Amino acid sequence: MTGLVQSATPGNLAEIGALVDGFSGNISYIAGGTDLVIALEQGPRPDLIIDISRMRALNFIDADVDAVHIGAATPLSILAEHRALAAKLPVLTQAAEQVGSVQIRNRATIGGNIASAVPGGDLLPVLKCLDCRIEVLRRDKTTITRAFDEVVTGSGETSLGNGDMITRITIPLRFGANRISAFGKIGRRRELAIARLNLALLADYDSTANRINDVRIVAGAIGPVPLRLRSVERQLRGRAVDQALADDFLQALTAAVDTAIPGRISQAYKRHAVMGLGLDLLQNLFAREFTPAGWSKAQA
Ligand SMILES: Cc1cc2nc3c(=O)[nH]c(=O)nc-3n(C[C@H](O)[C@H](O)[C@H](O)COP(=O)(O)OP(=O)(O)OC[C@H]3O[C@@H](n4cnc5c(N)ncnc54)[C@H](O)[C@@H]3O)c2cc1C
Repeated sequence: MTGLVQSATPGNLAEIGALVDGFSGNISYIAGGTDLVIALEQGPRPDLIIDISRMRALNFIDADVDAVHIGAATPLSILAEHRALAAKLPVLTQAAEQVGSVQIRNRATIGGNIASAVPGGDLLPVLKCLDCRIEVLRRDKTTITRAFDEVVTGSGETSLGNGDMITRITIPLRFGANRISAFGKIGRRRELAIARLNLALLADYDSTANRINDVRIVAGAIGPVPLRLRSVERQLRGRAVDQALADDFLQALTAAVDTAIPGRISQAYKRHAVMGLGLDLLQNLFAREFTPAGWSKAQA
């Protein structure tokens, strides 16, 4: 790194407002620095780096009856270990606990994961699946709230303008007592590689009737942005959870991968990998064994 970059460590949001107001150069926020430090070594540098890693106003997990609110600079290790959150949204804590190594999770933040918008980012399919709302403090000091798809717009691309900062993520608590959810990923080496494929699932499951009333499934790393697998959801909605459902689920996942990345070098790998991931998810969600008997059907 050569050349001068200004840096600042504001103590609160008002100080950030004062810093960015009227600043004419490029601004980067640094939270955990796990992506930014590498980016600074490889690419263009900003004129001002604002350190938000120790800002208490951005580091919290709150819940009310309808929603969970998470500060943008909350480290993933805090998310991963949050018991009340794990009880409400295991899909989110499971994703956080599978990011990188302990050292990475202690630094990496949820806001940084969104702003980096890497296709294999583990929180991305989860946040889309959960239909989160992302609050952004704009450079002009106004606050806007956007849906996930309005913020993460491409591979490494967001709609955030220069100086815009993600402040909090709000996740609605859908499906009441019937809510179940799970996350799974496949990476090169579990701890140190970005996911080659990840899956997030949220469902309204009536355990008394053994019936899936509603479901949302989102896959990451099979396109520039997380992809909602509506064709797979249709296979599960309204069904009893049994081996026949497992077989159809795996087959639908394979078909979804084929549709998403036809002809890609990774297609052959991912269409097999997604079945293992799907089986893991089912077993995680319903705490029962499903035989991979349907695999021959799914691989046909
Ligand atoms: C060895 C290693 C392993 C990794 N493994 C995984 C993995 O398994 N899964 C995974 O998903 N990721 C992984 N990552 C990537 C990284 O850790 C995550 O993307 C992390 O969540 C980024 O958060 P951060 O706080 O470190 O972001 P930073 O590096 O601080 O920032 C990243 C980008 O986001 C911007 N930014 C940060 N916070 C905000 C904000 N509040 N508002 C606006 N912009 C903001 C920064 O300006 C920068 O452009 C890994 C990284 C490394 C180095």
